[in-house]
Amino acid sequence: MSAVAVSGRSGLAELPVSHVMDQLLERVVEDLPYDDVTGRLKRRHYIIDRLKLEFSKDAARLAAEFATDDAAERLDSPTAGEWIRHNCKVSRSTAYDCINVGEQLHRLPKSADAVTTGAIGFAHLSVIARTSSSLAESTTESAFVEDDLVERARECSAGRLWHYCMRLRHALDPEGVASEQRIAVEERRLQFTVWDDGSLLISGQLDPIGGAAVRTALEPLAQPMGQGDDRCLEHRQADAFVELATHALDAGLLPQHASQRTHLQVTTSLETLQGLPGSPAADMEFSTPISTVTVQRLACDASIARVVFGPDSVVVDVGRAARVVSGATRRALNARDQHCQWPGCERPASWSAAHHLVHWVQGGATDLSNLVLLCHRHNWMVHEGGWKLARSNDGRLLAIPPVYDYYRVRAPDTIPAA
Ligand SMILES: [Zn+2]
Ligand SMILES: [Zn+2]
Repeated sequence: MSAVAVSGRSGLAELPVSHVMDQLLERVVEDLPYDDVTGRLKRRHYIIDRLKLEFSKDAARLAAEFATDDAAERLDSPTAGEWIRHNCKVSRSTAYDCINVGEQLHRLPKSADAVTTGAIGFAHLSVIARTSSSLAESTTESAFVEDDLVERARECSAGRLWHYCMRLRHALDPEGVASEQRIAVEERRLQFTVWDDGSLLISGQLDPIGGAAVRTALEPLAQPMGQGDDRCLEHRQADAFVELATHALDAGLLPQHASQRTHLQVTTSLETLQGLPGSPAADMEFSTPISTVTVQRLACDASIARVVFGPDSVVVDVGRAARVVSGATRRALNARDQHCQWPGCERPASWSAAHHLVHWVQGGATDLSNLVLLCHRHNWMVHEGGWKLARSNDGRLLAIPPVYDYYRVRAPDTIPAA
């Protein structure tokens, strides 16, 4: 009969070590008052770091077993990292990180001592170990100076240390860094998945330089803009992404398709464009059928949409016929407004559409008195978002919010069947 009663999923909580752990957790903060939260956090994390240091030594021993004997078969796992991931309930990166630290410890005695004394954290040690293993694998002769890194680690965060180590690695092993970045590019991917409601799920991975280009382009577009902008960062980034694509289409920046400018292709009937009762939804390439208000927005500044009336009506290529905002009118509009006219928004004219205050489909004139520059986001807010624009007596444009929230009034019986 076993001396240790093991029950439950792991049985770990009933091992004798559990009692010792309870005492340790209590002892480590017992001289600190309960309201000294920061002091307690530091002490507790010191224990975590010490444990991770010991954990790493055993993780490396397991990796060595996998390298030399039949551990893969015996433990029914392809690698030590996978075994640790499943059985110790950690992420893949944590598992491999600990193995790497354990494997590098024989080269990093000063770093390990610094963790033991609490001078640096395990996160620092992990960065130093990654640098050490990268340089050990490099083909070029390099001089890894542990003292320097430990000294840096004492003074800065793990994140800053990582940056310093990247620069150091480049100085010592430029070919290794270039090779790593080449591999990162090879692992790039971008996937689109269309959900049942037609929404596009985007997932992917970009190398650091490609990712930086995307973030640098989106960052200025994702800033809060205009009065009453309470969008969260995720919403602003999503809007910025769509705006970038829309601008590329609108400004004709994309390679031409069979001598035609690439643009959003919308097919609709005149009834739909006018919003008459009983009119069908419009069709747009790559999208589910779209509503009247969206068609009206796309056709508002006809330079971004090519609208073809369906067979029920007279076939008119509105993309050309309704490009009533002529070059001269648009230039005059740009000169007058200079940027999006939504209160507080400064998106430049080249990133804005010529919005008809009274839509041309409802008889609104295409002259300066009825046109106003609106950026992509604010054009959407007026057409689909339910906001109204009005001129004050002194000529300023006022944005009037909808009286109800569009997202909350959607009754179940208005949701289209899948
Ligand atoms: Zn508009
Ligand atoms: Zn705007």
